[in-house]
Amino acid sequence: VRKCHYCKRPGGKGPRELRPYGPGGADVCAECAIGVNATPERTRTAEKMFREKLSQKGPLVLDSRERVGPRRMGKRGAS
Ligand SMILES: [Zn+2]
Repeated sequence: VRKCHYCKRPGGKGPRELRPYGPGGADVCAECAIGVNATPERTRTAEKMFREKLSQKGPLVLDSRERVGPRRMGKRGAS
């Protein structure tokens, strides 16, 4: 089961959705990364990871079932 790097709780819907925007690509929930539990440091890390994702080459895909946010096609299972 994937858990948030910060609060250690499993992912869920809405603000509990996990994204790989923690340190080193660790799963974090939106609450901790950019929401009520966020710190400036966490938000900076999330923004950095997000920008790195978007800077990769290829068409963008956003599938909410994957809980990874926008990603490039063909990168499935790469991480
Ligand atoms: Zn969390």
